[in-house]
Amino acid sequence: MAPDIRVRIAPSPTGPLHIGTARTALFNYLFARRTGGTFVLRLEDTDVARSTEAFERDILDGLHWLGIDWDEGPAVGERGETGPYAPYRQMARLDDYAAAAAELVAKDLAYPCYCTPDELEADRRDQEANKLPPRYVGRCAVLTPAERAAREADGRRGALRFRVRPGVVGWDDVVRDRVEIDTSNLGGDFVIVRADGTPLYHFTVVVDDMAMRISHVIRGEDHVSNTPKHILLFDALGYPRPAFAHLPLILNPDGTKMSKRKSQTAVADYIAQGFLREALDNYFAFLGWSPGTDEDVLSLDEIAHRFELEKVQKGGARFDRDRLEWLNGQWIRRLDDQDLVERLLPFIEAAAAAGQIARVPSEGDVRALLPLVRERLPTLAAITDVVGFLWVDDLAVDPAALVPKRWDAATTRDGLAAARETLGAITETTWEADELEPPLRALAERRGWKAGDLFMAIRVATTGQTATPPLFDTLVALGRDRTLARLAAAGENLHTA
Ligand code: GLU
Repeated sequence: MAPDIRVRIAPSPTGPLHIGTARTALFNYLFARRTGGTFVLRLEDTDVARSTEAFERDILDGLHWLGIDWDEGPAVGERGETGPYAPYRQMARLDDYAAAAAELVAKDLAYPCYCTPDELEADRRDQEANKLPPRYVGRCAVLTPAERAAREADGRRGALRFRVRPGVVGWDDVVRDRVEIDTSNLGGDFVIVRADGTPLYHFTVVVDDMAMRISHVIRGEDHVSNTPKHILLFDALGYPRPAFAHLPLILNPDGTKMSKRKSQTAVADYIAQGFLREALDNYFAFLGWSPGTDEDVLSLDEIAHRFELEKVQKGGARFDRDRLEWLNGQWIRRLDDQDLVERLLPFIEAAAAAGQIARVPSEGDVRALLPLVRERLPTLAAITDVVGFLWVDDLAVDPAALVPKRWDAATTRDGLAAARETLGAITETTWEADELEPPLRALAERRGWKAGDLFMAIRVATTGQTATPPLFDTLVALGRDRTLARLAAAGENLHTA
């Protein structure tokens, strides 16, 4: 494979790690691993007002958590940088942008523009009135050196605009095939450096990709319209164009665009809800790619062995939470016991800290529960939905749910009292599922009740829920004393009047 494949992810630390960024990072990582290439992480931190350390940490930590590790880039936990093209954050590369800008000005491929915001606004309004798309009119494109000097003497500082040449810019996108865009659609000569000297995205991204020897630009489809600008800049600065692969946008299940407002887009939220890194990686990889078989549960390693950029689909990748939960459940089933216990405990502790449960069970208790819960967990946090009733002191029982459909309140009271008596005869030492079931079945038979009705009343009385893991295993996990106490309490609280 080509040894000089170099790809990058270039997040801006202006928000938490977004699922779109994680997916793009993953595809870059997979491509690098598959081809033996190098994956670079670079921070686009030139938006100083909106960039924060906390967002930067969230992004780097989130990617590390997902196992999407970079070969070159900022290290986590310290300000150190690794890699031959350091620094990997743009605010530390301003000299590079200044040098590249000077080169473009020297070649007359860029020029200072002194237009004021008012002038630009008036142009925009004129264009709007004439139903024309907004574009820079070129007022400063043809200033003579003397005219420029006059403006500078007035104390004006020019922004730098790049000269957009007429014609069509095209590229063979690895994902989208041939794309051609007429440069008349680019809005005229565009600003690459503001009057205050800060360089803008289209410019910095190209200068960095050149400096870091990027061979393949793999990023979201939302950047397709930016690519002609980047190609013009690569050409102007004399760098061979990298290959471009634009990944399909991630959509909601109904095909609409994801938005931070309507959709859950922060990776941290998925982590907090108890999705496994294995499931998220697996799911993100399938947002635009598939192995071409019917396998759907694949590890990062397995995916890295099969990943082909050419197999990425053009079509919208839909983010379906139900499907993610299903996949997460599959991965939860695959974890070994110790691993699953260790991953569950923090969620149980968090529920206790939030006051949802009164006690944190021991590691051993959680391990003993695994056969009951493993197949029932869509997420790690769901552990308290499934068996949180084991760890509460005052169980809330809805009287309406307590009375089985075919029973009335009086029968239910009677049934619970009889069940309590029957179970009370079983000792602590023989409190096992096999010991609990036969006497309760015999009780139902004697009294002419359907066993299912009796069991449902017991289930709701002892757990507060109509759906639980198997009843007798559940009563064993709950323990003899709590079971008997809950049966008594539920019976007492049931008004038969
Ligand atoms: N900071 C840009 C983004 O996150 C990078 C785009 C690019 O890859 O060129 O969208």
